[in-house]
Amino acid sequence: MSDNAPLFAAQEPIFPRRVSGFFRRLKWWIMAITLGTYYLVPWIRWDRGPNLPDQAVLVDLASRRFYFFWIEIWPHEFYFVAGLLIMAGLGLFLFTSALGRVWCGYACPQTVWTDLFLLVERWIEGDRNARLRLWKAPWSGHKWRLRVTKWAVWLLIAGATGGAWVFYFADAPTLASALLTLQASMVAYITIGILTATTFIFGGFMREQVCIYMCPWPRIQGAMMDEGTLTVGYRDWRGEPRGRGGARGRDGAKRTAVAEAVGGAQKVRHGLGASKDVAAPRISRTGEELGDCIDCMACVNVCPMGIDIREGQQMECITCALCIDACDEVMARIGRPRGLIDYLALDDRPPVLPGGHAPVRPMGTDAADDGAQTGVPAPSAAARADLDAGGTVSAPVAGAAAPAPYAGEAPFITPHSRDWTPQPLWKHVLRPRTLIYTAAWASIGFALLFALFIRPEIELTVAPVRNPTFVTLSDGSIRNTYDIRLRNKHGEVRDFELSLTADGALSIDLEGAEGTTVDVPADATMLQRVYVVADPGDPAATRQRSPLRLWVEDTASGERAYRDTIFNGKES
Ligand code: SF4
Ligand code: SF4
Repeated sequence: MSDNAPLFAAQEPIFPRRVSGFFRRLKWWIMAITLGTYYLVPWIRWDRGPNLPDQAVLVDLASRRFYFFWIEIWPHEFYFVAGLLIMAGLGLFLFTSALGRVWCGYACPQTVWTDLFLLVERWIEGDRNARLRLWKAPWSGHKWRLRVTKWAVWLLIAGATGGAWVFYFADAPTLASALLTLQASMVAYITIGILTATTFIFGGFMREQVCIYMCPWPRIQGAMMDEGTLTVGYRDWRGEPRGRGGARGRDGAKRTAVAEAVGGAQKVRHGLGASKDVAAPRISRTGEELGDCIDCMACVNVCPMGIDIREGQQMECITCALCIDACDEVMARIGRPRGLIDYLALDDRPPVLPGGHAPVRPMGTDAADDGAQTGVPAPSAAARADLDAGGTVSAPVAGAAAPAPYAGEAPFITPHSRDWTPQPLWKHVLRPRTLIYTAAWASIGFALLFALFIRPEIELTVAPVRNPTFVTLSDGSIRNTYDIRLRNKHGEVRDFELSLTADGALSIDLEGAEGTTVDVPADATMLQRVYVVADPGDPAATRQRSPLRLWVEDTASGERAYRDTIFNGKES
């Protein structure tokens, strides 16, 4: 880098064009489901009885509880949350190793909200060309009207986004009415304000900048991907040399004529679901054989990151797959099979032909770094002539010549590379790596489910009072004191009876209670001080340490729980 090279690059405005197709529809569905879930879940009610909140999903910070439908997580059960977080991390590893940045392209909040903001922008200002014209136009009443309308709708969405978030932390209807009557806490208003501002700025103005510069994920994901990972890529061996000419028009007769001129239809297999029978290679106006790319720039114009996927894998690519839809649309129009841009893996590349040429950059190399390329030797005239004459060569060349740097020259397109069949989808998805991730993910999931179903409704913890460890009473008996924390996870008040089992004849006494039974409030923890006494003649009174088991029993259901502890005697 030269000393004078600027360290700051100004943001280039990007105006993605509307596109339709399978992946666009899939993204609309995912957007509807994720946004619908986010906005609506706090309003779902769930009856837990009179003493518990009736919100299905609630993070109750005041009571330190997390409610999720029929599940209630207590603070001491945080391992459930930790387990879920580990599962989320492993799930991300699994999907990234199988499908690359699929999280970024489909479900990341930044992507989903940016997509929504773009939808609004297109609805108000028009598609790519209209937005470009508006952007270049001087400020006028018309431009102000469109811009202010767009910003107002963005703000509404951003406000709803911030508003929905706080409803997860308090009873939604109560908080909504408090917010509207300006009686909610300042924390709620500040949280909504911060989330509204960040949503408005990130989704409206920073868009791809967040993904490229702020998010660490693009830098980390490279460690989870390998040559078998499916990610969005360009089949350069099929598309190059790109160019307009030959069968580029909508005129079917012309395409047929071109196909006939080069020997009629041939079998071509490339791309999942690609048509098998297609016309022969296109011919340029000057008579050269062309690849399928007509250089129409549709894939670039729909890209929300403003990149050209034909340049190879780039860090900016969020694998949203919109360029696949755009190119498939073009291929359909020119009568070629879909999949020139597609989900593919590095090991889907055709084998290197002797003297062949592979211009795609290795995954992770920068588009501007022309020096670090695949190192495939440049095509030789002899090999070209051999293949043109119908020769068959398919294995990599042993002892290939020194690497030839990628210089953008036309790759060597042959019937063999066009006819290359990629590995089936399942081979990319079912690999040792993904299976290990799946096994780890499922094991943790089963362990959590098991722990969830066997967890008791009543619990106790025992803390012996150590200062002093025992007290000698006036009649010579020895007394130990314990602080017992009783947990009633039921939605109503329960009577808990305390008892003990020990080697000797020990007795139990509850501070501030008649007998050995206490009322524990609904869905609450109660601290109870307990005294255990050994008569002077009991062995426990004279033994330094005697095992002791303290029991709690729900008198209504008969459910029991215990904790083991130690009784400290006076060593004789
Ligand atoms: S959309 Fe397809 S045909 Fe058009 S430039 Fe992109 S890769 Fe080439
Ligand atoms: S190149 Fe652009 S449009 Fe294609 S998957 Fe990547 S980010 Fe999406």
